[in-house]
Amino acid sequence: LIRFDKVTKRFGSNTVLDNLDFSVNSGKHVTLIGPSGSGKTTILRLLMTLMKPDGGTIKVNGEYLTHEVKDGKLVPAGEKHIREIRKNIGMVFQQFNLFPNMKVLRNITEAPISVLGLSKDEAEERARELLDMVGLGDRADAYPTQLSGGQQQRVAIARALAMRPQVLLLDEVTSALDPELVAGVLDVLRDIARSTDITMLCVTHEMNFARDISDQVLMFDSGRIIESGSPDKIFSEPEHDRTREFLNAVL
Ligand code: ATP
Repeated sequence: LIRFDKVTKRFGSNTVLDNLDFSVNSGKHVTLIGPSGSGKTTILRLLMTLMKPDGGTIKVNGEYLTHEVKDGKLVPAGEKHIREIRKNIGMVFQQFNLFPNMKVLRNITEAPISVLGLSKDEAEERARELLDMVGLGDRADAYPTQLSGGQQQRVAIARALAMRPQVLLLDEVTSALDPELVAGVLDVLRDIARSTDITMLCVTHEMNFARDISDQVLMFDSGRIIESGSPDKIFSEPEHDRTREFLNAVL
């Protein structure tokens, strides 16, 4: 479903991703772990087309994200092509980024109505189902500032799912939360991982959560994957010294 092929990303002289190859199959849950600055968030931002790679190609669903085929030739992707592919991808950020001037329900229905062309009734029905799923069925008429951080993050998750994406990108979604609010958000994500066939790509420092939901864990260091495997292998029998050091520091 997702394929990175020799992807390089630089900021000035800082090579953040170095000839990176990896792929994620449909329906799988993959967690990216590794020290701060190792390039994990950059991968999610590339997939959201918030930035472009300096080299290599990214494919989503067999289609190039960065390029499109025109008259049999591979050319840099245009806005329309990027928008189409991006419809398949939802993202939840560390900061919830809800629209502060809109009630919870409207936060969730806005994009399905304006981007997918759903009717207001259809979008609201779906939004209410999603709010039930994230345990906020009774907060549809609240404004974001009337909710706790954990509740806002659960709205952000519902908002991402409302677009029915094939892929959900989660970027340290609990890092900005007070500790007592973390578990509620992680429980919602565990539930989504269990009960849907959505593909998840997740950057997290919550190792127990990573262990629970992941089919595969990728350990990053300096823009490369230094080790990958099942959560049991990575957390119980890491091969690489760097992985062991990292896990000792965070566990
Ligand atoms: P963290 O866990 O701290 O978020 P990360 O592994 O997700 O770390 P990235 O956010 O991908 O790391 O950043 C990798 C490197 O790229 C860092 O050195 C960072 O300073 C640099 N970087 C990221 N975005 C930019 C930018 N827009 N301009 C310049 N440098 C950037």
